[in-house]
Amino acid sequence: MKITSEALSDVGRKRKGNEDAHAVNPEQGLYVVADGMGGHAAGEVASRIAVEGIEEFVTLTAGNQEITWPFGLDETISYDGNRLKTAIRHANRRVLEATRESAELEGMATTVAAVLIEGEVAHLAHVGDSRIYRWSDDELTLLTSDHSWVNEQIQTGVISPEQARSHPLRNVVTRALGGRADLLVDVQALRMKEGDILLLCSDGLTTMISDEEIAGTLRSSGGDIGRAAQALVDEANEHGGEDNITVVLMKFEE
Ligand code: CA
Repeated sequence: MKITSEALSDVGRKRKGNEDAHAVNPEQGLYVVADGMGGHAAGEVASRIAVEGIEEFVTLTAGNQEITWPFGLDETISYDGNRLKTAIRHANRRVLEATRESAELEGMATTVAAVLIEGEVAHLAHVGDSRIYRWSDDELTLLTSDHSWVNEQIQTGVISPEQARSHPLRNVVTRALGGRADLLVDVQALRMKEGDILLLCSDGLTTMISDEEIAGTLRSSGGDIGRAAQALVDEANEHGGEDNITVVLMKFEE
C-alpha cells in the first residue's frame, strides 16, 4: 500500500521552545511523535533522543531475522510489533542513560506515539498522552488510551472528559520514557484500507481542540492531508495554542 504523509510541528502561542519531536521515515515505514518534558530545554533533548533511538533500532533491525531482543520477545505480538515495542524500550534506555550523565537533564522524560508499517498492517505503539487516531469511512476513532492522570480519573468515573480538558493536572502523564527502566509499551496492529488516514499528535492539539473538531477538519479537508495538517495546527493556535502542537498525518492509497 502506498502512503503519503505530512508532518507539522508548531511552537504554539505561549511556549518559548518546542519540546516536541517527530520522525517521518517512509523508507522504514516509521512515523513517530514525541512530546518532551523537563526544565531548561531538557524536554527537547528527551524527545529528540527518543525519536532517534526508535529510528536507530528500527533501521538496524530492518530485514534482519537474527535480532537479539534486549528485553526479550513478546510472543503475543508479531515480529514487527516486537520491533516497534523494543525500539521504544531501547529509546527509553537512551533517555535514562542521558539523564544519568548530566545533572541538567535529571527528570527529563518524553511521550511517544509511533507507527511501523508492514504491508497493509500498521503496528501502533504509544507511551504517555500523545495519541493516534484513525480516520476511516468518514469516522474518527481514537486508537490509543492516554497514560495520564486525568484519563485514569475518567476511566473510573471520577471526572468527565469535559472536566479533564480544563483540569489543572491535565498534563500529568503516568507513563513516559525516562521514568522506569522496565517501561510498559502498549502495542496493537491494524489492517489499513484505501483512503484511511492515521493522525499522530501531541497533546498540544488534543487539549486545545475536541475530537469532534478534529473530525470536522479531516472531513472538510476532503483527503488533502497537507491542508488538514495546517488547519489542525491553526485551530489549536486559535483556541489558545497553550502548548507545542505536532501532527503527523499518513494517508493510505492503493
Ligand atoms: Ca505537550
